[in-house]
Amino acid sequence: MDNTDIYEEYPELREIMPRQPRRRKRRGMSNGGKLLILLVVMAAAAAILGLGLSLASGNTEIIYGADGAAREVPAGEVKKYLAEGWYASASDLTPVKLYAEDGTVVTARRGDADKLAERGYYADRAKAYTAMYNDDGRTLYVPNALTGTYKAEGWHDKLSDVVSVLYKSDGSKMTVPKAQAAAYIEDGWTDRLLKVAKKMVSPEGKEEMVFNDNVNAYLDSGWTIIKRVIDPDQPMVALTFDDGPGKYTPALLDCLEKNNGAATFFVLGQLANTYPDVIKKASEIGCEVANHTWDHLNATSAGAEKTAESVRRTSDAVRELIGKGTALYRPCYGAYNKDVLSAVNLPAIMWSIDTLDWKTKDADATYNAVTTKVYDGAIILMHDIHEATVNAALRIIPKLTEEGYQLVTVSELLEYRCGGAENAKVYFDTEDIQ
Ligand SMILES: [Zn+2]
Repeated sequence: MDNTDIYEEYPELREIMPRQPRRRKRRGMSNGGKLLILLVVMAAAAAILGLGLSLASGNTEIIYGADGAAREVPAGEVKKYLAEGWYASASDLTPVKLYAEDGTVVTARRGDADKLAERGYYADRAKAYTAMYNDDGRTLYVPNALTGTYKAEGWHDKLSDVVSVLYKSDGSKMTVPKAQAAAYIEDGWTDRLLKVAKKMVSPEGKEEMVFNDNVNAYLDSGWTIIKRVIDPDQPMVALTFDDGPGKYTPALLDCLEKNNGAATFFVLGQLANTYPDVIKKASEIGCEVANHTWDHLNATSAGAEKTAESVRRTSDAVRELIGKGTALYRPCYGAYNKDVLSAVNLPAIMWSIDTLDWKTKDADATYNAVTTKVYDGAIILMHDIHEATVNAALRIIPKLTEEGYQLVTVSELLEYRCGGAENAKVYFDTEDIQ
């Protein structure tokens, strides 16, 4: 529906208008005719303006009817006339387009726009329409009521769904349709800001993303690199290591620290007192110490009560060392049931990428399992008690960092992507939650 007569639709608006002859629509007018009308209107406007000025001293004001007729009234009565549908200014009569969420477009006098906004007709189209984008770069303004239909046809209401922002380390930046991004990335651009920039802080505490080419200059003027930055809009993964700590774990921690990354260690409580310094160091560098029971209990055969007790005991042992207990539980052998989940009453963290490192005990196989399957939001399962796994991790950590993945703890991943983790729920990754 276009150009509906709003005054037919809302007769109550008409009722408060002064009686007036309907304006006849002019059609197919010649340019000469238009010019003539323009001249007449200009002359009338000049006359009205002059009249208004000459009468101002007499304590009267000019008001305007819907048909354009000017009337001189005592200043004290203007309010009353306006309430009856007269207009305070000639410009209130200017036709404006108003938009409704169902796609209706109406033309009304500007002076009625506020009243019509209360009825869902807006002069600001953005209030009734949504900008939508498609994959080949087109933008459409769609009435809000129709956005669902357009979405079903492949349109998106978020620009970021159809374009990629690309960067270079010298600070160049551009936006391209997603379909074209791959070609640019091959050409040296990246869609991962953290690959080409670092977050830095000035001596005064001002934070800024600094492109790699400029980092040295910033360092020279006293800025420092903020080590662990988590940007929720950039890719992130959670590396997790079970069954430790072990004698290879310290090398793994050094590597994480060097790469400003973190991981989650699902530790066995019985090893806490064998490797207290490893657990403390992990916590100090921002890693998460989480719970894998005291002695690798199979929860479904041990039962809910015993498992919960084993988890509690482990949490207490960890708290002794780092001042806080464990916030996450990983079921041994991936075995759990409803009773176990509610007795343990912590978020249960499974995984979405199984490296099978315990089986292959082969660093290349583990490295390939991670680097070929990794995706934004993944939870990756490894075991830091195996030398081959730690050797793989020493290559995986710099590689993923270089690719622009943020290495975060499971709690961080779920905090940033799922608004936090809920007790007794099972998480396979940030999408697969049961
Ligand atoms: Zn295990």
